[in-house]
Amino acid sequence: MSRPILRFAPSPNGYLHLGHALSALVTWKATAMLDGTVYLRIEDIDIQRCKPEFTQAIVEDLEWLGLSWAEPVLLQSERFDIYAEAANRLRQADLLYPCFCSRAEIAAAAQGSDPDGAPLYPGTCRHLSNAERIERLERGDPVQFRLDTGKARDRTGMLTYSVIGPTLNDRPQIRYARPERWGDVVLQRKDTPTSYHLSVVVDDAAQGVTHLTRGRDLEAATDIHVLLQMLLGLPTPIYHFHRLLLGDDGGKLAKSKGSQSLRDLRAQGWTPDDVRRAVGF
Ligand code: GLU
Repeated sequence: MSRPILRFAPSPNGYLHLGHALSALVTWKATAMLDGTVYLRIEDIDIQRCKPEFTQAIVEDLEWLGLSWAEPVLLQSERFDIYAEAANRLRQADLLYPCFCSRAEIAAAAQGSDPDGAPLYPGTCRHLSNAERIERLERGDPVQFRLDTGKARDRTGMLTYSVIGPTLNDRPQIRYARPERWGDVVLQRKDTPTSYHLSVVVDDAAQGVTHLTRGRDLEAATDIHVLLQMLLGLPTPIYHFHRLLLGDDGGKLAKSKGSQSLRDLRAQGWTPDDVRRAVGF
C-alpha cells in the first residue's frame, strides 16, 4: 500500500489557539504512528476575513511547536479555477442551481435546522423556472449556487465511510452518511466562487489524503463531503474525529470568542511543552 497522507488545514482568519494546537498535535501524532506524510493546507477562500499575516503566523506557530510538513503548502486562494471546474461538472450533471434568497428570507422560511443549528434551507429557488433563473442572473441579482441534495442522493444510493479511533489500527467503524440532513448546501457562495465543502473535498483528493483527522465539530459535515466525493468521482479517505477543547462557557474554543492565541501564551512565557501538556499530550 502506498504511504499514508495526512493534512492540517487551518483557516487564516485569526491566530491559532489551543484548540488548533490540539488538532495539529493529533494530526502529527497520527502521521508518525502511520509512518505517513503530512501536508499543510491554508484554507483561505474567505477573501474578506483571511489575511496573509495570519498565514505567516500559522507557519511560525507550527514551527514553534516543533512541527514540520512536506512541501508544497497548498493555498486555496490560488485554486479558485479548480473549484469552479468541479462546480461546473456538478452543474452539467444538473445538480447545481442558482439561489437568490437572502439570509433573512431563509430564516423566515426555514424548515427546522441543520446539524450545526443553522436554518435549514427550504428549497425555495429549486422551484424557479429556467426563464426566472435566466432573468435574475441577467439582472445581476446576488446569487449563490446550491447542490440539489435530494437529486444527488437519488443518484448515489447508500453512502458509507470508515472511521477509526485514536489508536488508528483498530478495525474501522462503518458509518452511513446522511447528507440530506443538511438540505441543499451552498457550493458557490455570494462572496467567493466556492465554499468550504467544495474546496475541502477537491483538495483532499488533489493532495492524495488517505487519513483525515479533524475535530468532532466537523463530524456531521463529513456526510456532505462523502456525497461530493461520490458525485465527483474522488476517493473517500479514512476519517478520525478528535475530541474538542472546551472553553469556560462549555462551548468549543473559537477565535471569534477571543480564546487566547498561541502567540499570546508564548508572550506570557509558555513553552511548546506547556502547550502540549495543556491540551493533554
Ligand atoms: N479549515 C477548517 C478549519 O479551520 C478545517 C478543515 C477540515 O478539517 O476539514 O476549521
